Amino acid sequence: MKKITIAIDGFSSTGKSTIAKQLAKKLNYSYIDTGAMYRAVAYFALEHQLISEKYFDIEEIVNQLKNIQLHFEYNVESQVSEIYLNGKCIENEIRTLNVSNYVSKVAEIAEVRSFLVDQQKEMGKNKGVILDGRDIGTVVFPDAELKLFMTALPEIRAQRRYEELIAKGEKVEYEAVLKNLTERDLIDAMRKVSPLKKALDAVEIDNSHLTMDEQLEKIYQLSIEKIKL
Ligand code: C5P
Repeated sequence: MKKITIAIDGFSSTGKSTIAKQLAKKLNYSYIDTGAMYRAVAYFALEHQLISEKYFDIEEIVNQLKNIQLHFEYNVESQVSEIYLNGKCIENEIRTLNVSNYVSKVAEIAEVRSFLVDQQKEMGKNKGVILDGRDIGTVVFPDAELKLFMTALPEIRAQRRYEELIAKGEKVEYEAVLKNLTERDLIDAMRKVSPLKKALDAVEIDNSHLTMDEQLEKIYQLSIEKIKL
């Protein structure tokens, strides 16, 4: 069967990675979580004190990119493709609210974007791949056969993310999660380099009131239509 590239973009916490993982399994495709790569760079910068509440050393972040090696490894047990930074799995470390609070500022840096976009292009070049992020259909794979743009009401997204963080044992307030989401959306949509926007040929999916199964079925059908073309 023909292999295609599927690009899933959209606002924060719209369930892009959940649907991408489910679809990858159903189609037997590989999945690349590009957000994890931006989070890994933000995590590295935090760990090396290049960012803090009062401090943001763009020059040194750019300078340190040469010391950042990222790769994904599929964990058979958890069935998740996990991200590694310089040989260490940091899948849990990058999902904290602290990393979320800085990642969009790091993702505004043009050099960080080209550093990661080059790797994403290389990882996805053989098709049979699903990538999720903010600029996949517009910048990374503008020729992707299927492009999806995910949205949902901010309060619904915040509630979902809040429950996820609480389930992981993080002590967070719903209001802080909502604030983080709306701030990230704003920075992502307003930045100069590859801002978050719907590609002209993307199919918009508002999943505010869709169940997981309904959403998966809808997206699976769209994929099959493109694969059969
Ligand atoms: O997808 P996730 O929420 O994990 O992404 C974290 C952040 O990384 C986003 O808010 C955005 O600032 C940045 N990002 C990006 N481009 C991508 C993927 C993520 O700018 N392709």
